[in-house]
Amino acid sequence: MPESLTSEHLQLRSSAATFATDVLLPRRDGGEQAVREIVELAKAAAFFTMTQPKAFGGSEATTLELSIVRDEIAAHNPPFLHAVFGPGPGVLGGVQEPLRTTHLTPLIAGEKKSAFGFTEPDEAPRATWGVLAGDELIVNGQKSYVTGGAQADFINTLVQIEDHGPALVVIDTNTPGVERVRDFSSLDGSTHAAFEFRDVHLSKTHIIGQPGEGLPRAMKQIGDTRLAIAAQCVGWMRWLLDYLTDHLNSPTRGGRKRGDREGVRLRYAELRIQAYAARSMLYRTARLADSGENIVNEGIACKVFASEAVGQIVDTAIQLVGGVALVDGHPLEMLYRQVRALRLAEGGSDVLRLNLAKGQLELQKGRI
Ligand SMILES: Cc1cc2nc3c(=O)[nH]c(=O)nc-3n(C[C@H](O)[C@H](O)[C@H](O)COP(=O)(O)OP(=O)(O)OC[C@H]3O[C@@H](n4cnc5c(N)ncnc54)[C@H](O)[C@@H]3O)c2cc1C
Repeated sequence: MPESLTSEHLQLRSSAATFATDVLLPRRDGGEQAVREIVELAKAAAFFTMTQPKAFGGSEATTLELSIVRDEIAAHNPPFLHAVFGPGPGVLGGVQEPLRTTHLTPLIAGEKKSAFGFTEPDEAPRATWGVLAGDELIVNGQKSYVTGGAQADFINTLVQIEDHGPALVVIDTNTPGVERVRDFSSLDGSTHAAFEFRDVHLSKTHIIGQPGEGLPRAMKQIGDTRLAIAAQCVGWMRWLLDYLTDHLNSPTRGGRKRGDREGVRLRYAELRIQAYAARSMLYRTARLADSGENIVNEGIACKVFASEAVGQIVDTAIQLVGGVALVDGHPLEMLYRQVRALRLAEGGSDVLRLNLAKGQLELQKGRI
């Protein structure tokens, strides 16, 4: 599993397993120094450049190759997964000058950090908007949940441009009028910031593509990220089921195997069904993407299913292992917190379900 991988794919999977075992797992308590070492070793092992375009020295791996590596590495439940792959172009992919030189090139080289500003606070009277005036775009508004915002040199921001529609706009965080008003972290351990924009004057060249093109571009970036999340969830499911299998094969104090109880077996089987379905979906969708098909709806299906299934698996695993699994620092407790965030990040499950229904009912898109 998954079937029909070529010998090159199997070799890639085996290298990913070795990287997880030899590089990531031993550095669990290493902090920032460990992250720096992982980045260098990921470059040497050619994982780092898989997400980067050939024009920038990357290897531009296929969706299947990226899914194999993400699945395999997460199946070892190692720390610092985020350090394995280098920054990809994201919404700046294919951007023209001057943004190519001023933002895309330093982003790929690791010299500048970007963040994504999409979510608006509930209480905002108006979504972030911009007004075109000559060669300038003047932006006002706010974004409430910008991951990595405190470290970001620029934010790719969704802005409603008056008379044109939504556009993605590059906003440097040091531009006058940009204020980082709050830093916070979420239960998965990731850090975020809220921003306000007051009469931020930008060159019109900071609009990515044409005004009004914003949503399709944002959706492409979010679509790629959704499949990456699904691959990570699938790997974690494999780790969870291995962990649970060992637990169920171990004896209770009375000498009986924990997995001998029929009620436990029924729950265990259900989790295996979920993991099988999620992994099958992931590999089918990755192959569709690589054949050039539009996989927006299938990517949604994978992300919703995998993030919900891994949530159910870790939750049931905690229940079957018992209270010890809830002690701070237990691997199940840590994973529980990490996977919970994924049912909201990159689109809440129900909002994605609505998108999926719209895809078929209004646009006749999406497969079974
Ligand atoms: C770890 C993490 C990282 C994140 N990183 C970023 C980031 O970098 N950039 C960024 O912009 N955002 C980021 N977010 C925010 C995330 O994208 C949003 O939380 C998510 O899209 C939900 O939007 P919301 O929080 O505004 O909730 P809302 O849109 O208010 O939705 C809350 C709930 O209301 C219900 N609901 C909402 N609309 C509908 C509807 N039309 N029909 C039916 N039910 C509905 C759903 O149950 C939904 O889950 C991140 C979130 C997390 C958890």
